[in-house]
Amino acid sequence: MTQNQASAGCYPDSVSAPTEKPVSHTLPGLCADCIHARRIESDRGSVFFLCQLAQTDDRFKKYPRLPVLSCIGYERKVAPNV
Ligand code: SF4
Repeated sequence: MTQNQASAGCYPDSVSAPTEKPVSHTLPGLCADCIHARRIESDRGSVFFLCQLAQTDDRFKKYPRLPVLSCIGYERKVAPNV
């Protein structure tokens, strides 16, 4: 018995490659609730975070590599009073 014959009965139905695209999971980290971040969604549904501090301070990248886990420019958005 070959390896393929031995493993052919492992699954009750044939297994095929998924046909749908995987869901994009963007993990922005700190940018998610930073006042300097602007969320941008492309026509294809990709999500980017633009750091507006990059316009005036070259220590920041316009499109930071996500997830941002530590950042000297981070300022948390304050929830509006209800
Ligand atoms: S300052 Fe830092 S946390 Fe805020 S948007 Fe820019 S990179 Fe993200």
